[in-house]
Amino acid sequence: MRLYLFCIFIFFICYQDVIAWGFYAHRLINRQAVFSLPPELMVLFKPNLAYISDKAVNPDRRRYAVQGEAEKHYIDLDVYGDSAIFKLPQSWQEAQIIYGEDSLRKNGISPWSTYLTFQYLTYAFQKKDRQAILKLAADLGHYLGDINVPLHSTENYNGQNTNQHGIHGFWESRLPELYAKDYDLFVGKAEYLTNPRKEIWEAIEVAHNALDSVFSFEKLLTDKFPDDQKYSYENRGSITTRVYSKAFSLAYHQMLAGQVERQMKKTIKLIADFWYSAWILAGQPDLTNPAPNFRPPFEIDSIETPQDSIKNVREHQSLFTDPEALFWKSLNKNLYYWQAFRKYCGRRPRFLPRG
Ligand SMILES: [Zn+2]
Repeated sequence: MRLYLFCIFIFFICYQDVIAWGFYAHRLINRQAVFSLPPELMVLFKPNLAYISDKAVNPDRRRYAVQGEAEKHYIDLDVYGDSAIFKLPQSWQEAQIIYGEDSLRKNGISPWSTYLTFQYLTYAFQKKDRQAILKLAADLGHYLGDINVPLHSTENYNGQNTNQHGIHGFWESRLPELYAKDYDLFVGKAEYLTNPRKEIWEAIEVAHNALDSVFSFEKLLTDKFPDDQKYSYENRGSITTRVYSKAFSLAYHQMLAGQVERQMKKTIKLIADFWYSAWILAGQPDLTNPAPNFRPPFEIDSIETPQDSIKNVREHQSLFTDPEALFWKSLNKNLYYWQAFRKYCGRRPRFLPRG
């Protein structure tokens, strides 16, 4: 039994680096957003570029350890029927009154919690708390990244209902890893947003509308490619793993006609705009001389934790990249995963199906 648990633990650790926009893309997106900031913000963000980029993936790592975290990464718009985007209240309080908190959490709360993170960031700017600013800015970058991924807005988030299992990791991990180096990710200067909450909902609407092509193009190509051409095998460290073949990836990427690049650029611009707008709303504080020891008196990265936690952790990974290297890297880095794993097992004894 112990050996079994240990194996699962290793598997769990190794999985960490291949989720949500792909860790690669999340880091790249946060990093790029920094270069759109004005000098007043650059003074804090540029020296901490590595932090902003590395911590872009922290919200995904927290999903197993922090109650109420998992549902901040998605919203299943389709469960609310047609025109959901227009029916759902943009205010968290109003939404709770109409649908109830448990039901909202069950179907994901990304638009509301992303906006709350923006408000926390504004508060951190007001207090000139460098540490809180950087942490919340990195978190906000992640959440804004997720809302721009089409598959974070549907119940069928990994093609499990349409026999397209693995499409989530394919779109947001495999494609950026193969092609993002050729993308033009320059998005110009950050701009002030007069209505940030509306921007969040509009971004989700655009992402959700893209689902049609995300699913239908994959299906179209799957009909053309026999299985042995749709998938191939790549060596990651000492492990050979099955991935979407380069030919299939290229055909899909071409059919999507720049969709992944567009969504990535849109995310970068939105993140820069949100960081900048939070700073403006905070009264444009001078960040060259921040207050050193202030800490906000609340859990800064979480919408209130529910009484009875609903675990909504989703497994949608399809690529099992370099597990051995990832294991040692992760194990050496810190004990965070071990604690997370223990908590995870405590709450959910049965392991979720792999992607
Ligand atoms: Zn996420």
